[in-house]
Amino acid sequence: DEPVVEVENLSRHFAVSRGLFGGGAAMLRAVDGVSFSLARGETMALVGESGCGKTTLARMLLKLLEPTSGRIRINGHDLEGLSGEALRRFRTDVQAVFQDPWASLSPRMRVFDIVAETLVINERLTRTELERRVHEALTAVGLPLDAARNYPHEFSGGQRQRIAIASAIIARPSLMILDEPVSALDVSIRSQIMNLFKDIQDEFHCSYVIVAHDLGTTRFMADRLAVMYLGRLVEFGPTDDVFERPVHPYTQALLSASLPLDVDGTHKPIILKGELPSPLAPPSGCPFHPRCQSVIGEICSTQEPRTTAVGNAGATVACHLAEAAGAPSAL
Ligand code: SF4
Repeated sequence: DEPVVEVENLSRHFAVSRGLFGGGAAMLRAVDGVSFSLARGETMALVGESGCGKTTLARMLLKLLEPTSGRIRINGHDLEGLSGEALRRFRTDVQAVFQDPWASLSPRMRVFDIVAETLVINERLTRTELERRVHEALTAVGLPLDAARNYPHEFSGGQRQRIAIASAIIARPSLMILDEPVSALDVSIRSQIMNLFKDIQDEFHCSYVIVAHDLGTTRFMADRLAVMYLGRLVEFGPTDDVFERPVHPYTQALLSASLPLDVDGTHKPIILKGELPSPLAPPSGCPFHPRCQSVIGEICSTQEPRTTAVGNAGATVACHLAEAAGAPSAL
């Protein structure tokens, strides 16, 4: 099975003015040398602190932002230079659901027009066929068919997110980018929406890339976990493996902070040293070294670790510890 998403050595750098005092320009490496692939019907979660590059990566997958270097292939098509009919197909085949259903739906459009919009723009369908597809999408997200006549403000937050999901799935995309899709919702309805995403995936066999800061959502939703730090992909692998045996010291700290507080002395949370460094001046060598609890020597502050394959499930880690452990191949 050909992967739905293949990302190879992808980078996005921005020239940023240092402002009045420092003067000159600096290079912000928002995403730096990221590689991974995702199979059909799988979910990958991007996690890491804010500013780690998750959103920049998601925007490149949506072709809302062009990479500085590297390549993205979706269903075998290179996104670079995509135009005309191929670009139109991409715009229906890759859809997004954003965090805030209050902001993402036009208040002046009826639900029918919101849900139908992608098809109206990209496909020439008869009115009857369009109605059939809108009804199919509303049914798939658990909304009544007469919702089509109403305006978004007549619905609750959870129902509005269902409308946003209906408008994303109507074109039967093979890939959906979910940017914090439940974090703006009441806690009581988050699990309903997460279950809805799972049901939709079973029905339509689409892949998801989910940007999330909540690790509970991540573990529930994702088959693969991608951990980012200062624009680098520091660990990538099957979600359960990463949760149970995190290899990169940053992943270990991130996961340990999310575990329940220690009551019986079995779990000692790893407290990260210092603040997240400015992405404009990332530390030398391994960018995590000033905060790392497992530094192995000078090599950590002088040489950037290579991305190294670990195990045989396509997992990778960027840390000298993994290289020193004699991992079989380096990417
Ligand atoms: Fe820590 Fe060194 Fe690994 Fe970086 S390369 S995460 S500093 S052990």
